[in-house]
Amino acid sequence: MEHTFEIPDEPVRPGLILKKLLREKGWTEKELALVIGKPVGYVRDISNGTQRVSAELSVDLGVALGAPWDYFAVLETRFRISNLAQSDRLGNIERVSRLFSWVPVAELVRRGWIRKAASTKALESRVLEFFGISDFEEEIPSIARPSNIAALTSYERGALTAWLRRLTWESERKSVVGQFEPHRLYESIPEIMGLMQTRIDFRDIAEKLSAYGIRAIALETLPKLYLEGATGKGPVLGVTLRKRKVGEFGCLLQHMLGHLILKHEGHIEMTPFCSREKEHDEAEAFATSHFSPTDNAVSMFLHATDDTPTKDEILNFSDEHGIHPGITIERILRRGVELSTRYQAKIGLKQAPPGKSTIAELNRTILRSGK
Ligand SMILES: [Zn+2]
Repeated sequence: MEHTFEIPDEPVRPGLILKKLLREKGWTEKELALVIGKPVGYVRDISNGTQRVSAELSVDLGVALGAPWDYFAVLETRFRISNLAQSDRLGNIERVSRLFSWVPVAELVRRGWIRKAASTKALESRVLEFFGISDFEEEIPSIARPSNIAALTSYERGALTAWLRRLTWESERKSVVGQFEPHRLYESIPEIMGLMQTRIDFRDIAEKLSAYGIRAIALETLPKLYLEGATGKGPVLGVTLRKRKVGEFGCLLQHMLGHLILKHEGHIEMTPFCSREKEHDEAEAFATSHFSPTDNAVSMFLHATDDTPTKDEILNFSDEHGIHPGITIERILRRGVELSTRYQAKIGLKQAPPGKSTIAELNRTILRSGK
C-alpha cells in the first residue's frame, strides 16, 4: 500500500515520523545514510531530534522515501513553532504590536510627545502616562470625541486620539486672560473679523481669543490624518494649519467659533468625517449668517455680477465688508461657482497661514501671549 504522508494534527518531532517510515520500508538508519550519502550519525541525529531538518535535507529525504519534498520541512517548522508558543519573548512582541496598533507610537516618540523607552514595559507605561490613564481599558480624558468612530480606520482612530490628547495636554498648560462666556464671544465677532481683513495670522487671533477665555492652540496633525482642528471643553480651539489657502483657514475659524458660541460640546473638524452632523451644519449656518461676508451678501453680490465677478469687483466687495478677499472667494467657491485658480492667485490667495515647519514656533508665541 502506498504511504500518504499526512501531516498529523498535533505537532510531532520529524525524527519520530522518520523512524516509523524506516520501519515500514524495512530500512535501517545505516541504509538511509547510504542512500542520502551522509554518515550514519547524521541520520541518528535526525531521528533523536538533535539535527534540524533544513530545506536541503527535506528534499533529500523526500527523494529517498518518496515523500513530498517539503514534507519533513513542514513537520520541522510546525514542531518548532509549537515549542516557541510559550516563550516570554513572543509575549513581548505581542504587547508591542498591540501598542503600535493602538496609536502611532514611533511618530509620537519622534515628536517628543512620548519619551523613548528601552523596554516594552517602560514604553507601555509612557504611553499610558501620555494618555493620562492607568490601564488600556480606561477611558482617555479628552476635550472632544469623534461621534462616528466607526467611520475611521484604526490608524485614524489612534492618531486622532493621540492628537486630541496632546491638544488637551497643551491646553491644560496654557493660561488665558479672560473668562469664557458664549454671549461675550458672540458680541466680539466684529472685533475678531477685524483680524481677518488684510491677513489672517493665527497668533493675533489666539491672543484675541485668550481675552475671551478661549485657549487657542496650533498643533501639527499626524501623518495621513486629514484633520483641520477641534473645539472642546476648556474651551479649547485647536487648529492643525493644514489648510494652505488663507480663505479656507478663515472660513474654518469662523465655523469653529460658531461651535463655541452655540455651546456645542467637543467637535472635531475632519473632512468628510464630520460634515453631515447636525451641529456641524448649525455651526456652518451660524458662521455664514454672522461672519462677513454673510451668505445673503454673497448671494446678492453674485446676482449683481451674474455669477462672474471680476477681480476688482471681488476686491471692492471684500473691502466694503471689511474681510480678506480670500474668504469671499472661498464662500463663492462653496456655492459651486467656478473661479479659475490663476485668477485666485492674482488676488494673492496663496498668502497662506504659517505652515507646518513654524508650528512649534507659533505655539511658543501663542503660549507667551497667553500669559
Ligand atoms: Zn464642525
